Amino acid sequence: MKSLLVATTNTGKFQEFSELLKSVFRCSTLPKETPLVVEDGTTYKENALKKAKEYFERFKVPVLSDDSGLEIDVLGGAPGVFSANFGGESLSWPDRWNFLYNQLGNKRLSNPSARFRCVLCYYDGVNAPQFFEATTEGSISPTPQGSGGFGYDPIFFSSDLRKSLGEATLPEKSSVSHRARATKKFLEFIQNQPQ
Ligand code: IMP
Repeated sequence: MKSLLVATTNTGKFQEFSELLKSVFRCSTLPKETPLVVEDGTTYKENALKKAKEYFERFKVPVLSDDSGLEIDVLGGAPGVFSANFGGESLSWPDRWNFLYNQLGNKRLSNPSARFRCVLCYYDGVNAPQFFEATTEGSISPTPQGSGGFGYDPIFFSSDLRKSLGEATLPEKSSVSHRARATKKFLEFIQNQPQ
Protein backbone atom coordinates (compact mmCIF):
# COMPACT_ATOMS: atom_id res chain seq x y z
CA MET A 1 0.00 0.00 0.00
CA LYS A 2 1.32 3.46 -0.87
CA SER A 3 2.24 6.00 1.79
CA LEU A 4 0.80 9.48 1.80
CA LEU A 5 1.63 12.41 4.04
CA VAL A 6 -1.59 14.26 4.77
CA ALA A 7 -0.37 17.76 5.48
CA THR A 8 -2.66 18.89 8.26
CA THR A 9 -2.36 19.33 12.00
CA ASN A 10 -6.13 19.42 12.39
CA THR A 11 -7.09 16.05 13.91
CA GLY A 12 -10.68 16.38 12.69
CA LYS A 13 -9.49 16.80 9.11
CA PHE A 14 -6.93 14.02 9.41
CA GLN A 15 -9.60 11.63 10.68
CA GLU A 16 -11.82 12.50 7.72
CA PHE A 17 -9.01 12.08 5.18
CA SER A 18 -7.63 8.81 6.51
CA GLU A 19 -11.10 7.27 6.58
CA LEU A 20 -11.67 8.30 2.96
CA LEU A 21 -8.26 7.17 1.74
CA LYS A 22 -7.72 4.02 3.75
CA SER A 23 -8.47 1.61 0.89
CA VAL A 24 -5.60 3.01 -1.16
CA PHE A 25 -3.12 4.77 1.12
CA ARG A 26 -1.38 4.35 4.42
CA CYS A 27 -1.81 7.92 5.67
CA SER A 28 0.48 9.67 8.08
CA THR A 29 0.11 13.12 9.50
CA LEU A 30 2.72 15.81 10.11
CA PRO A 31 5.05 14.80 12.93
CA LYS A 32 4.57 16.91 16.09
CA GLU A 33 7.11 19.77 16.23
CA THR A 34 6.99 20.21 12.42
CA PRO A 35 7.38 23.93 11.74
CA LEU A 36 4.14 24.92 10.06
CA VAL A 37 4.00 26.44 6.61
CA VAL A 38 2.62 29.98 6.77
CA GLU A 39 -0.68 30.12 4.90
CA ASP A 40 -0.34 33.63 3.52
CA GLY A 41 -1.83 33.08 0.06
CA THR A 42 -4.92 34.91 -1.12
CA THR A 43 -6.45 31.83 -2.75
CA TYR A 44 -7.04 28.28 -1.54
CA LYS A 45 -4.95 27.01 -4.44
CA GLU A 46 -1.94 29.13 -3.52
CA ASN A 47 -2.00 27.91 0.09
CA ALA A 48 -2.51 24.27 -0.85
CA LEU A 49 0.36 24.40 -3.37
CA LYS A 50 2.69 26.09 -0.90
CA LYS A 51 1.99 23.44 1.74
CA ALA A 52 2.38 20.51 -0.67
CA LYS A 53 5.71 21.76 -2.03
CA GLU A 54 7.25 22.80 1.28
CA TYR A 55 6.28 19.59 3.09
CA PHE A 56 7.48 17.51 0.15
CA GLU A 57 10.86 19.28 0.31
CA ARG A 58 11.04 18.54 4.03
CA PHE A 59 9.90 14.90 4.10
CA LYS A 60 10.48 13.65 0.52
CA VAL A 61 7.26 11.62 0.43
CA PRO A 62 4.11 12.22 -1.65
CA VAL A 63 1.99 14.89 0.01
CA LEU A 64 -1.70 15.68 -0.03
CA SER A 65 -2.40 19.16 1.29
CA ASP A 66 -5.64 21.04 1.52
CA ASP A 67 -6.96 24.49 2.02
CA SER A 68 -10.59 25.09 2.74
CA GLY A 69 -13.01 27.67 4.00
CA LEU A 70 -16.56 28.76 4.58
CA GLU A 71 -18.11 31.14 2.03
CA ILE A 72 -21.20 33.14 2.97
CA ASP A 73 -22.96 34.79 0.04
CA VAL A 74 -24.32 37.85 1.89
CA LEU A 75 -20.78 38.53 3.15
CA GLY A 76 -19.43 38.50 -0.42
CA GLY A 77 -17.89 35.05 0.06
CA ALA A 78 -16.21 35.88 3.41
CA PRO A 79 -14.56 34.49 5.43
CA GLY A 80 -13.37 32.23 2.54
CA VAL A 81 -9.63 31.72 2.48
CA PHE A 82 -9.39 33.63 5.78
CA SER A 83 -11.80 31.30 7.63
CA ALA A 84 -9.25 29.88 10.08
CA ASN A 85 -8.53 33.21 11.77
CA PHE A 86 -11.78 35.08 11.09
CA GLY A 87 -12.28 37.59 13.91
CA GLY A 88 -8.77 37.06 15.33
CA GLU A 89 -6.22 34.32 15.63
CA SER A 90 -6.77 33.44 19.28
CA LEU A 91 -10.60 33.27 19.35
CA SER A 92 -12.26 30.13 20.69
CA TRP A 93 -14.71 28.54 18.26
CA PRO A 94 -17.81 29.79 20.13
CA ASP A 95 -16.32 33.30 20.04
CA ARG A 96 -15.58 32.96 16.33
CA TRP A 97 -19.18 31.86 15.65
CA ASN A 98 -20.38 34.90 17.61
CA PHE A 99 -18.07 37.16 15.65
CA LEU A 100 -19.55 35.73 12.46
CA TYR A 101 -23.10 36.19 13.78
CA ASN A 102 -22.25 39.84 14.54
CA GLN A 103 -21.03 40.31 10.98
CA LEU A 104 -24.34 38.93 9.73
CA GLY A 105 -26.48 41.15 11.99
CA ASN A 106 -30.19 40.61 11.24
CA LYS A 107 -29.35 38.41 8.27
CA ARG A 108 -28.38 35.72 10.77
CA LEU A 109 -32.07 34.91 11.19
CA SER A 110 -32.78 34.30 7.51
CA ASN A 111 -30.58 31.21 7.05
CA PRO A 112 -28.07 32.91 4.73
CA SER A 113 -26.76 30.62 2.01
CA ALA A 114 -23.20 29.37 2.37
CA ARG A 115 -20.85 26.65 1.26
CA PHE A 116 -17.64 25.00 2.30
CA ARG A 117 -15.01 24.80 -0.40
CA CYS A 118 -11.96 22.56 -0.41
CA VAL A 119 -8.96 22.60 -2.71
CA LEU A 120 -6.56 19.68 -2.50
CA CYS A 121 -3.07 19.61 -3.90
CA TYR A 122 -1.20 16.35 -4.54
CA TYR A 123 2.52 16.57 -5.13
CA ASP A 124 4.81 13.56 -5.50
CA GLY A 125 8.00 15.42 -6.39
CA VAL A 126 8.05 13.92 -9.90
CA ASN A 127 4.93 15.07 -11.69
CA ALA A 128 3.37 18.52 -11.77
CA PRO A 129 1.17 19.30 -8.73
CA GLN A 130 -2.45 18.26 -9.24
CA PHE A 131 -5.45 20.14 -7.84
CA PHE A 132 -8.91 18.83 -6.91
CA GLU A 133 -11.72 21.15 -5.85
CA ALA A 134 -15.21 20.61 -4.46
CA THR A 135 -17.94 22.30 -2.45
CA THR A 136 -20.84 21.39 -0.22
CA GLU A 137 -23.87 23.69 -0.05
CA GLY A 138 -25.88 24.82 2.92
CA SER A 139 -26.75 27.81 5.09
CA ILE A 140 -25.79 29.38 8.39
CA SER A 141 -27.94 28.16 11.30
CA PRO A 142 -29.35 30.97 13.46
CA THR A 143 -27.86 29.17 16.50
CA PRO A 144 -25.15 26.49 16.80
CA GLN A 145 -26.55 22.95 16.57
CA GLY A 146 -24.74 19.83 17.79
CA SER A 147 -21.23 19.39 19.09
CA GLY A 148 -19.70 17.01 16.53
CA GLY A 149 -17.13 17.75 13.85
CA PHE A 150 -14.86 20.74 14.18
CA GLY A 151 -14.53 24.41 13.27
CA TYR A 152 -17.71 25.87 11.80
CA ASP A 153 -19.59 22.53 11.68
CA PRO A 154 -22.24 23.37 14.35
CA ILE A 155 -23.30 26.57 12.57
CA PHE A 156 -23.39 25.08 9.06
CA PHE A 157 -26.73 23.56 8.07
CA SER A 158 -26.12 21.04 5.29
CA SER A 159 -28.64 21.13 2.41
CA ASP A 160 -27.85 17.46 1.70
CA LEU A 161 -28.21 16.13 5.24
CA ARG A 162 -30.98 18.53 6.37
CA LYS A 163 -29.15 19.07 9.65
CA SER A 164 -26.04 20.85 10.85
CA LEU A 165 -22.64 19.22 10.34
CA GLY A 166 -22.26 19.45 14.11
CA GLU A 167 -25.17 17.00 14.40
CA ALA A 168 -23.83 14.66 11.71
CA THR A 169 -21.86 11.47 12.33
CA LEU A 170 -18.48 11.17 10.63
CA PRO A 171 -19.85 8.81 7.93
CA GLU A 172 -22.75 11.21 7.31
CA LYS A 173 -20.42 14.18 6.97
CA SER A 174 -18.09 12.15 4.75
CA SER A 175 -20.98 11.34 2.42
CA VAL A 176 -21.47 15.01 1.50
CA SER A 177 -18.50 17.12 2.59
CA HIS A 178 -16.41 19.37 0.37
CA ARG A 179 -13.32 17.49 1.57
CA ALA A 180 -14.83 14.07 0.79
CA ARG A 181 -15.92 15.19 -2.67
CA ALA A 182 -12.49 16.62 -3.50
CA THR A 183 -10.88 13.46 -2.09
CA LYS A 184 -13.05 11.30 -4.37
CA LYS A 185 -11.75 13.27 -7.36
CA PHE A 186 -8.21 12.70 -6.09
CA LEU A 187 -8.82 8.95 -5.72
CA GLU A 188 -10.23 8.74 -9.26
CA PHE A 189 -7.09 10.47 -10.50
CA ILE A 190 -4.79 8.09 -8.58
CA GLN A 191 -6.68 5.01 -9.73
CA ASN A 192 -6.31 6.11 -13.35
CA GLN A 193 -2.52 6.50 -13.07
CA PRO A 194 -0.31 3.76 -14.52
CA GLN A 195 1.19 1.69 -11.65
P1 IMP B 1 -7.60 25.45 6.66
O1 IMP B 1 -7.98 24.76 5.40
O2 IMP B 1 -6.92 24.54 7.63
O3 IMP B 1 -6.88 26.74 6.44
O4 IMP B 1 -8.94 25.76 7.40
C1 IMP B 1 -9.81 26.79 7.04
C2 IMP B 1 -10.84 27.01 8.10
O5 IMP B 1 -12.10 26.56 7.64
C3 IMP B 1 -10.55 26.34 9.43
O6 IMP B 1 -10.80 27.24 10.43
C4 IMP B 1 -11.53 25.23 9.50
O7 IMP B 1 -11.98 25.01 10.80
C5 IMP B 1 -12.66 25.70 8.60
N1 IMP B 1 -13.15 24.51 7.96
C6 IMP B 1 -12.64 23.87 6.89
N2 IMP B 1 -13.31 22.75 6.64
C7 IMP B 1 -14.24 22.67 7.60
C8 IMP B 1 -15.23 21.69 7.91
O8 IMP B 1 -15.38 20.65 7.28
N3 IMP B 1 -15.99 21.96 8.97
C9 IMP B 1 -15.86 23.08 9.73
N4 IMP B 1 -14.95 24.00 9.51
C10 IMP B 1 -14.14 23.79 8.44
